Amino acid sequence: MSEIDRMLAANAQGASQSPGELPARPARGVAVVACMDARMDLYRILGLAPGDAHVIRNAGGVVTEDTLRSLAISQHLLGTREVLLVHHTRCGMQDADETAVLDQVEQATGARPEWAVQGFADVDEDVRESVRRLRASPYLVATEVRGTVYDVHTGLLREVAVEG
Ligand SMILES: [Zn+2]
Repeated sequence: MSEIDRMLAANAQGASQSPGELPARPARGVAVVACMDARMDLYRILGLAPGDAHVIRNAGGVVTEDTLRSLAISQHLLGTREVLLVHHTRCGMQDADETAVLDQVEQATGARPEWAVQGFADVDEDVRESVRRLRASPYLVATEVRGTVYDVHTGLLREVAVEG
C-alpha cells in the first residue's frame, strides 16, 4: 500500500471535515506565499480556517512567475488584497548549491533542468527581496505586502522590516 493509497483511505474514512458550502472567494481577503516545508502547518500557524485564505507554496516560498500568476488570479478574480510571505529557519533552500542540485537531477534522470534552483544565503534578505518583487509587480493590486520568518523550533513568526 502506497502513501497515496493511505491518504485516499483516510479521506474515505472521514479524516477531513466537510468544507460544506464555503465560497471560493477567501473570506479574509488574504493570500499567503510560503515554503513547502513539511513542518509548517500554515493554517494552524496563522490561525486560519478553510475558506479563509489562498496558500501558495513552493520550495523556498520563492516569488516565481507562477507565484505571480497565482497571486494575480487570487487578487483580480477572487478579491484578495493582502499578501503575507512566510519563509522559515533551517530551510533546505538556504545555501542550496545551484549547480549541485542541477547536477543531482541530471545524474538521476539524464535531463538537466532549465529552471533556476533559487537558493538563498540570508533568509531575511530573501524575504526582503521577495516583498520588493511583489510590491514592484505591475499585475498586482495588494494593499499590503509583508514578510516573515517562521522559527521551526519555537513555532513563532518574526516579521522582517522592509522599507517602502
Ligand atoms: Zn523551506
